Amino acid sequence: MQTQTNQPVTPLDAAAIRADFPILNQDPGPDRKPLVFLDSAASSQKPAVVIEALDDYHRRYNANIHRGVYQLSELATGRYEQARHLVADFIGAASHRECVFVRNTTEAINLVAQTWGRRNIRVGDLIVLTVMEHHSNLVPWQILAEETGAELAHVRLTPDGRLDLDHLDDLLARDPKLVAFTHVSNSLGTLVDAAEISRRARAAGAAVLIDGAQSVPHLPVDVRQLDCDFLAFSGHKMLAPMGSGVLYGKKALLEAMPPYMGGGSMIRKVELTRSTWADVPAKFEAGTPAVGDAIGLGAAVEYLNALGMDWVREHERDVVGYALERLVEVPGMTLYGPLDPAARSGVVSFNLGDIHPHDVAAILDGENVAVRAGHHCTQPLMRELGVVATTRASFYIYNTREDVDRLVEALHVANRIFGLA
Ligand code: PMP
Repeated sequence: MQTQTNQPVTPLDAAAIRADFPILNQDPGPDRKPLVFLDSAASSQKPAVVIEALDDYHRRYNANIHRGVYQLSELATGRYEQARHLVADFIGAASHRECVFVRNTTEAINLVAQTWGRRNIRVGDLIVLTVMEHHSNLVPWQILAEETGAELAHVRLTPDGRLDLDHLDDLLARDPKLVAFTHVSNSLGTLVDAAEISRRARAAGAAVLIDGAQSVPHLPVDVRQLDCDFLAFSGHKMLAPMGSGVLYGKKALLEAMPPYMGGGSMIRKVELTRSTWADVPAKFEAGTPAVGDAIGLGAAVEYLNALGMDWVREHERDVVGYALERLVEVPGMTLYGPLDPAARSGVVSFNLGDIHPHDVAAILDGENVAVRAGHHCTQPLMRELGVVATTRASFYIYNTREDVDRLVEALHVANRIFGLA
């Protein structure tokens, strides 16, 4: 398909999209079936335009940015900053200055915890999280709470894996300083009503951080509509290279925050014993950044824009709806998270009888169906579900209903091997 055009393809043509992904078009070899890649929640595959953008940077204009008064450096700087503008528009930020390039979601959340957190959180303050957070939206707050004497509380889940909003209200009545929650659960697939939670949290006077690692790649996300203070996400889950990630923060907040790391690029004036800081976002981008990766993120955003994020969401809703229908037919199937496709994103976690998820995943790999097995960096959630691990299939723009059929066939193979059916 043509990725240069700004005309959204309607609706999404996953088979045509697949042609843009070299890794999905490899010859699997004589004894392997064609690859069905169902692990995009961990990291997505990359279309040729992204690979080429990275390659082009290294071949034609590789140079350090911002300080080089020569053509290559100016070109690299221009593309790096252009990527920032693309990202800002993609999430509806009021200004590109509100987008800080980081390595990933984890770094973005740690940045907020260690700068905004240290400045604003005091002994006895309450930070509200949820039981379904990824470790990267739990551990940074645990470290901060340990350092400051703040208290952590976690919104409970309903039996079908949604957030219990009554419990949220109970916790909001205790005047928390911050509510930090995931927009989409990477383990359950639950799509959270982030705008509503943000509205309630703000009404209670709390700051709001949204972990957008699983939402920004998969559905339209608009920070002004969400009215969040911070949004964290990773490029590698949205077609871009590993090493590219974004922290969005409201400008006034970013300006008031102390720097995270000190060093080159983040300063205005350095003396031997004291320094002053550059304007945002440079204040938070100490040292040489991952220039090529950021440029690759810009190319990924252009690719997604050409598809149209509404269509990306519609496509995933269709594939995941079909997956839920077909998976319930598999003997021994336990599905986690809401069964309504409108209430989830393209992630489906399950267990098959008492077969260990690692065994399920290994058998699926034998059928060349790539899924993830484990706790998915959500150990507290696994405890809540009463399991040690799940098998997780996650879908993206290049997955089709046929991929779901291959998954289901492979699960029948697992059942046969384990004598369940
Ligand atoms: N939050 C969520 C919801 C995630 O799914 C992930 C990645 N699995 C992360 C945070 C962490 O992302 P990264 O490893 O790119 O920092």
